[in-house]
Amino acid sequence: MNTRTPVENPLLSNWVTPDEVPPFPQIKPEHFVPAYDHAFAAHEIEVAAIAAFPDRPDFENTIAALERSGKDLQRVDGVFHLLVGAHSNDALLEIERELAPRAASHWNNIHTNPDLFRRIDVLMRQAETLGLDPEQKRVLERYHTTFRRAGAGLDGAAKERLAEIIERLAALGTTFSQNVLADEQAFTLSLEGEAELAGLPDFMRQAMKSEAHERGLDGCVVTLSRSSVEPFLQFAQRRDLREKVFRAFVNRGDNGGPTDNKAIIAEMVKLRAERARLLGYQDFAHYRLDDAMAKTPEAVRRLLDTVWSPARAHALADRNALQALAQEEGGNFKLAPWDWRYYAEKLRQRRCNIEEAAIKPYLNLDRMIEAAFYTAQRLFGLWFSPRNDVPVWHPDVRVWEVRDNGGGEVGLFFGDYLARPSKQSGAWMTSLRDQEKLAGDIRPLIINVCNFSKGAEGEPTLLSFIDAHTLFHEFGHALHGLLSNVTYPQISGTSVATDFVELPSQLYEHWLEQPEILRQFALHYQTGEPMPEALLQRLIAARNFDQGFATVEFLASAFVDLDFHSLSSAPAIDSAAFETQSLARIGMPDEIVMRHRPPHFGHVFSGGGYAAGYYSYMWSEVLDADAFEAFKETGDIFDPATAKRLRETIYAAGGSREPADAYKAFRGRLPSPDALLRKRGLVEAATALLSPARAGG
Ligand SMILES: [Zn+2]
Repeated sequence: MNTRTPVENPLLSNWVTPDEVPPFPQIKPEHFVPAYDHAFAAHEIEVAAIAAFPDRPDFENTIAALERSGKDLQRVDGVFHLLVGAHSNDALLEIERELAPRAASHWNNIHTNPDLFRRIDVLMRQAETLGLDPEQKRVLERYHTTFRRAGAGLDGAAKERLAEIIERLAALGTTFSQNVLADEQAFTLSLEGEAELAGLPDFMRQAMKSEAHERGLDGCVVTLSRSSVEPFLQFAQRRDLREKVFRAFVNRGDNGGPTDNKAIIAEMVKLRAERARLLGYQDFAHYRLDDAMAKTPEAVRRLLDTVWSPARAHALADRNALQALAQEEGGNFKLAPWDWRYYAEKLRQRRCNIEEAAIKPYLNLDRMIEAAFYTAQRLFGLWFSPRNDVPVWHPDVRVWEVRDNGGGEVGLFFGDYLARPSKQSGAWMTSLRDQEKLAGDIRPLIINVCNFSKGAEGEPTLLSFIDAHTLFHEFGHALHGLLSNVTYPQISGTSVATDFVELPSQLYEHWLEQPEILRQFALHYQTGEPMPEALLQRLIAARNFDQGFATVEFLASAFVDLDFHSLSSAPAIDSAAFETQSLARIGMPDEIVMRHRPPHFGHVFSGGGYAAGYYSYMWSEVLDADAFEAFKETGDIFDPATAKRLRETIYAAGGSREPADAYKAFRGRLPSPDALLRKRGLVEAATALLSPARAGG
C-alpha cells in the first residue's frame, strides 16, 4: 500500500466542499497516480477480506460487502474520467494510457477471483430461499452474471489468457481514442476573405471566430468537432473547401503514421473474437448480446433489416432530387458525399421553406436549458436553481441544485455545454457520484458534457435544432441518474443494458419537438419575440426531412459494427477492406458515408462500451417512439398518470429488473418497430416497398 498519507492528496482527503463535490481547483494531474495506487490497494484488501471471510456466504457478508467496497476508487475514477473527457491535457492523457490496462487488470482480478465466485455461486443457487427482496435478488443475479461473463468459472490457463486479452484491449482502446483526439487537434482550416466564407451565415462566422480565438489564431477556423463540420458542410459554397473538411473529418484515425487506427481495429476485433470463444460463445456479438435486451445478433439484424430497406429507398430518392438541384444550379458534377448536406439544406429550404439560419436565433442555449428544466418540472415535479458555491473543473461549467415538489434534495446537475480544445468531441452524460441508499441517503452528482460552439464575445450561444436535440438527449440521461431510487449502487441510474439506456434520453427529445415547448422557449435572442408560428410549424413539419440520409448513415455504422463482431475465427483482417465489403453487402449509396467510420468509431473501439452494440440507439428508438405514443394517446404530453408510471418503471428503476419487464410495466406490452417507422417518416417507403407492384424490385 502506498505510504503517502491520504491527507496530502486532495483526491483522498475528505471533501469538505458544498455537497462534497471534488475540490477541482486543488486537484492536479500528479495527484492521480498516488491516489490510484492507494485506491486500488485499499480495494484489493477489502475484496480479499470478503473472499476469505470465514462465515458461510450470505447476502450481507458477500454481495452487500462488495457493494460497499471500493469507495476511494470510485471517487478517484469519477474525477479522472470526467477530466480526461471534458478537460484533458498531455499529463492526464499520459496517465490514462498507463492506467487503462492497470484498471482492466484490477477489475479482472476481482471478477475472476475463484473464492469470491464460489461464494456468489452458492448464493445464486440458493437465491429463492434466502429471503431476498426483489432488488437484492436482482443485484445478486447481476453479480453472478458479471463474474460468469468475465470468466470466473474458467480453468487457470483460459483465465490467464483472458486476463491478457482484457488488459491488451484496454490499452488498445485508450490509444484508439487518443489517436482520434490527436487527429482532431491537428486540423484547423483557416478561412480568409469573402470568397472562402461564401455562404456561411453570421452565427457560423461568429462561432468560427471564437474557435480561432480559443486556439490563439486570428480570423475564422473550421475544426473537426461535429458541431463545426456539419454546419460548414451545410452552408459553405466553396465545393473544394467542403471536400477538404469532409475528407479530414471522415479520415480521422485513418491517415497513416502514428495516429492511424486500422491496425488497432484489426487487433481488437481478433482479441474480442478470441475472448468470446474462451467464454463459450461463437463470436463476440453473441457474447455481447446475451446480456442485452436484444439477446441475439439475429434479433438485432431483424430490426436493422426492417428499417434498412425503406431508409435506403428514401435516401436514394432524395439523392436524385439533390443531384437534380445541383444540375439546376449549374453544377456539372456527380453528387459527392461532401455535397449532400449543402444541397440538402437548399432542398430543405425549398420543400419545407425553412432555413437553418432563420431558426438559430430562436434557439438560445440558456432558453433551451430552461425548456429542458421546465419539461422535467411538468413531468416529474423537479425544480432547478443555480449554485455558484460549488467547485467546478472549468469556468464554463454551470451547476444547478435539483429539488422535488416537496422541496426534497434530488442531487446536483452540472452542465458543461461549450466546445473547447481540451474536450473530447461528442456529447455524453457522466456522474461524479451515483444515487444509492446502502451507504446512507446518497444524492447523485450528474454531469452533461456537450460541444456547442460558443457564441462570440458578449453574445449568447445559439444552437441548431440538432444541438437542441442533443441537449435534451443528454438531459434525459441526466434525469435517469438524478431520479434513480434504488438501494444498491450496482443497479443505480444508468446501470442498465446498453440497448435500453438510450430510452430515457431519446424519449426526452420528443418534448423538444412539441409546439407548446417551442412557443414558450424558442425566443429570439435579440428581441425576445417567440418564433413566428408559421416558422415553428414548418420546423416541426421538417423533422422528417432527410431522414433517409440520417437513417442510412446510422444503420451503416450499426451493420459494420455487427459484422466486425460476428467474425468467429480470428484471422488477421484488413479493416479497410472489411469496411468496404460490409458496406457493399448492404448496398450503401456512394453519396453517403457511415456516421462513424471504423477508424474513429469511439463507441465501438474506445473502450468498447458499444462494441456490437451501436444498434442500441435504434433498439431504444423502437421503445422511445412507442413510449411517447403513450402520452399522445392520453391527449396530454404531460399526462400526470403516464408521467408517474414512466418515472417509477423507467427513470427511477435503474437496473432493478430485466429491461423487457421494465418496459412492459410501463406500457403493458412490448413495442413493434411501427412507431419508429412512423416517427422517421419511413412508413410510406416501407409500404411502397412491400406493395405487389414493387415486389422483387
Ligand atoms: Zn445517449
